[in-house]
Amino acid sequence: MEKQTLSFQAEVKQLLHLVTHSLYSNKEIFLRELVSNASDACDKLRFEALNDASLFEDQPNLEIRIGFDKEARRIIISDNGIGLSAQEAIDHLGTIAKSGTKEFMAKLDGDKARDANLIGQFGVGFYSGYIVADRITVESRRAGLAATEGVRWSSEGTGDFEVETITRERRGTDIILHLREGEDEFLSTWKLKSIVGKYSDHISLPVLMRKESWDAEKGENVVSDDWEPVNKAAAIWTRSKSDITDAEYKAFYEQLTYDTTAPLAYTHNRVEGRTEYTQLLYIPAKAPFDLWNRDKRGGVKLYVKRVFIMDDAEALMPVYLRFVKGVIDSADLPLNVSRELLQESRDVRAIREGSTKRVLSMLESLADSESADDKAKYAEFWKQFGAVLKEGIGEDHANQERLAKLLRFASTQADEGVSFADYVSRMKEGQEAIYYITAETLAAAKNSPQLEIFKKKGIEVLLFTDRVDEWMLSHLYEFEGKSLQSVAKGAVDLGQLQDEEEKKQAEAAAESFKPTLDRLKAALASRAKDVRVTTRLVDSPACLVVEEGDMSGHLARLLKQAGQ
Ligand code: ADP
Ligand code: MG
Repeated sequence: MEKQTLSFQAEVKQLLHLVTHSLYSNKEIFLRELVSNASDACDKLRFEALNDASLFEDQPNLEIRIGFDKEARRIIISDNGIGLSAQEAIDHLGTIAKSGTKEFMAKLDGDKARDANLIGQFGVGFYSGYIVADRITVESRRAGLAATEGVRWSSEGTGDFEVETITRERRGTDIILHLREGEDEFLSTWKLKSIVGKYSDHISLPVLMRKESWDAEKGENVVSDDWEPVNKAAAIWTRSKSDITDAEYKAFYEQLTYDTTAPLAYTHNRVEGRTEYTQLLYIPAKAPFDLWNRDKRGGVKLYVKRVFIMDDAEALMPVYLRFVKGVIDSADLPLNVSRELLQESRDVRAIREGSTKRVLSMLESLADSESADDKAKYAEFWKQFGAVLKEGIGEDHANQERLAKLLRFASTQADEGVSFADYVSRMKEGQEAIYYITAETLAAAKNSPQLEIFKKKGIEVLLFTDRVDEWMLSHLYEFEGKSLQSVAKGAVDLGQLQDEEEKKQAEAAAESFKPTLDRLKAALASRAKDVRVTTRLVDSPACLVVEEGDMSGHLARLLKQAGQ
């Protein structure tokens, strides 16, 4: 292919503009992004080579090299991974196919300095090179292609880029950054090494740099021709628990998720038995921007015997636990496992069940802990992810009971943090049911006239205001043998809580108001099924209720809003 100039997709142009104009705090993350791309490229090669070992050519040892040239003011990140064909360079480096880019740009818009970490969270990391470089040249050859089918891609990161075919013996990719004026601090072994140590220590491949040593004669450090590894290169989950510090677990979490807030909790186990696997799972401290997207990529990466297989293995974790991040490494799955196979595999089902249980016990140990610190963590977890966990009540019947214990609500006695167990412990003598009401807001729930009789009798009522609550309640009928009863449905049966005197009064009232009721019924014939005398009101003259088993007024309103 002759040298040609192509234009970036409009979205890329916009993105590049934002990257170079607003991401100048924490710019060192460009190295993390490029090293992580190099590592991904090696993972991809290893994966493709499972079916075609010849792709390794004569270089089966995958590695990443970082070098720099002080005079030319360049940094070069090289890998011997899968590489790019000319067409792939055009497609992958000139366009963005990912969702989430719009949200990312919205967050960057404006002229304030933004945390460059954002870019990693949105998976457009390659362009972070332009934070420090005013030209990036990519030279690459895809594994399996002839040396004459190499590619050179080059761009100043403004409107367009150039591509041409080159001859390149080496497989894999060199990313050459031509540094901007004023970015010379990155032309230092010490600096680059320390960035790798900070962000990329757990990359499971060796990251190599030239050895630098003190030359007494010259009185300065000189760079030798030898390369040495500058990262640990051990996949952390394969190491023994007792050898890993809390700080290392947290650093790995950050590397995995780009989330700089420490996770709330993690669990690391080697599971033995019929299905053998290792799990290292984290619960983040804050919800991602796309938590509500049920189709988004899952947060758990699948490895088979340390070989990376895929990173959106939704078969490994139920949808309602989509906030969980981590790694599962199986010893039993075939290396060339496909998505279809994953869905059907018995081993995967066992892994999924085991991992779900692990996550639930992690949550239980926070929720049930005596420590105030853990309790606070659980409260925070609930705030961030509680509404998602509720989806599990309907989706995971096997764990419904455990999930029900983890739920927290508002009630007429506390604005948050009430569990079913708390409620049950406060039930009145003779109270048989757990009472609740659903409404759009806490204020609406609290002021509902249907609560009057409960207030008068000092009976606690749970207040449900999440959108998912109605749906959840259609799957949850009881807690530890106590039925859940809406105070806005049917004739509330207060059972033994109502004394004989009150029952008699109600019957007498129904009798004496019969003519009035009949007239009201006739007048509202097209709009109300029935008009009754009630004991549920204390101060208000009237209220609407729906029939037992019918859709609640709140759900009807939600559906109407949704255009149903
Ligand atoms: P992401 O890594 O999330 O896909 P990036 O913007 O970091 O997004 O990279 C864009 C794409 O460019 C990658 O998906 C990959 O196809 C290609 N790419 C980037 N760096 C390399 C590399 N070192 N080797 C091969 N392909 C690469
Ligand atoms: Mg990337």
